[in-house]
Amino acid sequence: MPIKDIPVTKLKNVGPARAAALSRMGINKVDELLRLYPRSYQNRGDIKLLSDTGDGEKSALLLVIATAPKKALIRRGMSLLKFRAYDESGTAEITYFNQDYLADKFSVGDVFRFYGKVERKSRASGKDSFSLSSPIAEFAGAAPEALPPLVPIYPLTSPLTQNIVSKLTEDALDLYLSGSYADPIPAEVLVENELSTRSFALKNIHAPTSLSALAAAKKRLIFEEFFLFALGLSIAGRRHSKEGTAPILEGDISPLISLLPYSLTGAQIRAIGEIEKDMAKDVPMQRILVGDVGSGKTVCAAAAMLIAIQSGKQAALMAPTEILATQHFNDLEPLFRELGIKVSLLTGSTTAAEKRKIYASLSEKNAENRTDIVIGTHALISEGVEFSDLGLVITDEQHRFGVKQRSALTEKGKHAHMLVMSATPIPRSLALTLYGDLDISLIDEMPPGRQRVDTFAVNESYRERLLSFIEKQTGEGGQVYIVCPAVEEKEQDDENEGDITLDGIAIGDELTIDFDPPNKCSPPLKSAVKYAGELSERFPSLNIAFVHGKMKAQEKDLVMADFSAGKIDVLVSTTVIEVGVNVPNACLMIVENAERFGLSQLHQLRGRVGRGERKSYCVLVSDSDGEKARARLDTMKNMYDGFAIAEKDLAIRGPGDFLQNSSGGGIRQSGGLRFRLADMCTDGDLFTSAFTSARALLASDPELLRFPELLGEVKDLFDLKGNM
Ligand code: ADP
Ligand code: MG
Repeated sequence: MPIKDIPVTKLKNVGPARAAALSRMGINKVDELLRLYPRSYQNRGDIKLLSDTGDGEKSALLLVIATAPKKALIRRGMSLLKFRAYDESGTAEITYFNQDYLADKFSVGDVFRFYGKVERKSRASGKDSFSLSSPIAEFAGAAPEALPPLVPIYPLTSPLTQNIVSKLTEDALDLYLSGSYADPIPAEVLVENELSTRSFALKNIHAPTSLSALAAAKKRLIFEEFFLFALGLSIAGRRHSKEGTAPILEGDISPLISLLPYSLTGAQIRAIGEIEKDMAKDVPMQRILVGDVGSGKTVCAAAAMLIAIQSGKQAALMAPTEILATQHFNDLEPLFRELGIKVSLLTGSTTAAEKRKIYASLSEKNAENRTDIVIGTHALISEGVEFSDLGLVITDEQHRFGVKQRSALTEKGKHAHMLVMSATPIPRSLALTLYGDLDISLIDEMPPGRQRVDTFAVNESYRERLLSFIEKQTGEGGQVYIVCPAVEEKEQDDENEGDITLDGIAIGDELTIDFDPPNKCSPPLKSAVKYAGELSERFPSLNIAFVHGKMKAQEKDLVMADFSAGKIDVLVSTTVIEVGVNVPNACLMIVENAERFGLSQLHQLRGRVGRGERKSYCVLVSDSDGEKARARLDTMKNMYDGFAIAEKDLAIRGPGDFLQNSSGGGIRQSGGLRFRLADMCTDGDLFTSAFTSARALLASDPELLRFPELLGEVKDLFDLKGNM
């Protein structure tokens, strides 16, 4: 049986209670247990002499028990176990609180490996005294070198303990290793990338025999995650492209253009031309339109829809949120009405009666009476929606949708043409990798006359001035965005301090991270809610609201709609503020802990202001005194081209941000794919080599016919069923 199908209950130490606890951690199958990677390791293999330890330093020691443990009752409910142990350099006093049962564990003359904080005191005699309080003790027997050097620390849910989970993963490993499962990654790919086998990697990620074995294991597993991801991206994207479709003939977009108060930019004209050419073919268009915020993608979409309608087809435009869908509807409906084209808006809050009317009008056979264009949210892919003759599907801000949702809408149109609009300017090299399945149109030119958003990078000492600036801007009727990084409740446990985390292990020439470690010098992160509360106290007359990622979509939409309508003066948010939301009255964007954001993200955020008449500003607040962080933020002061910023970001941070903000996120939501070990920011080299290898493999074997196991894993990961 494939390891992914074996339930954990097949392991001998897993009964119903443990199975339930594991299940709460999302672990039901043996394979999932194997993929529960340690979050850190205690380095107990680096044995030190007592005399070599520093005071308060966590160390591993090999000590001989010198005295029998003595129990003492300090006060009620508090007992103490005390004994001495030595190595060639000195003697330590060892104490355990309330663990009397340990008394029998330590016999005089036995050797134990102790791991814990060593307290060191100088004495007049010149010989220092050492003590350890409640150290971890392992009986070393005759062969201390047989003890594992690196001890994994797992993420846990009670009632599971480290010991239980270690034991369970050990059992799972035994089962896996005895099953002699084939490595799904082809041998040539392993060799080319100097990777270890999956067996080696799984064994050494859980029970590393050395630091270098752990690094090799980690490298292999990260590569594997990227490699499967790369294969899946191209295979999933290919699925619809070969089926035939009815060509849409060239149309005449001049009636639409003449309604616009401006003329198209060269880039817009080029993009529309590319779309038009694609739609005239008898295979469905699969094109992505990539352009900076405000570069005017919407009108290109409108032109494409007009052409489809001129050929007697219908068109659908899907936006990720209600507010965006409504915004598009309000912009486009009046234009199309002028042209005698019927547009409907279909969202979650469309009433049932209204919905029925729209459904009927979409499936209406008589072209005279039917709705030509529907603009909406996910509501567009609900069951009841059927089109009479859908020829073109457009999704806006595509990263919010998964591959699955995209194709669900396309399926409604029996091989309709597909256009995806992305507001993340992506460097061309990366776009080719990410959207290998899509043709790309770049809008790399902004409409003329855009105002420049003055950008400042400041530190905490500017706080008061910043508050006055908020007061000034809102006093003049402007609106303010304040963005804080999403706060993750990180478990702070001092217990693990000093342990080796996976992040700390270098693999080969690891891409160096060019920004400061989070939290190093930054003020404590505030949650959006708390921050909004503080501001309300300071500015009681202002209307201050917040949105954050944990709010329900409808709640968020409501706040955004209020902001959009000018009912809110200051909006504090995590980055959930919608890409693409257009509030021309917003004139100040403040980004807190700006060092935590990628340049492209900052650019996106800056794009929220400067959309109207008001002179607009962007203030990047960061107390990070890291030189590199400062330099990064400073580049924002004089860089305004999204593509140039994206190139720079790619060079500095690797492809992480783009993946997270583009198709990666969407696929993850829909297909359950998530990276466990891989970090796209820091593992840039492995990312690149995995994509390169994936491309080469697919070139030689597009259907992965020679690698059925590999194909199976890719399909599972992306939740792809049946033939591709
Ligand atoms: P995005 O690419 O971010 O979706 P939009 O399509 O929303 O950008 O366009 C942003 C603004 O620019 C809109 O108000 C739109 O009317 C305007 N716009 C689009 N194209 C042009 C152009 N060629 N000249 C001037 N303004 C334009
Ligand atoms: Mg847009």
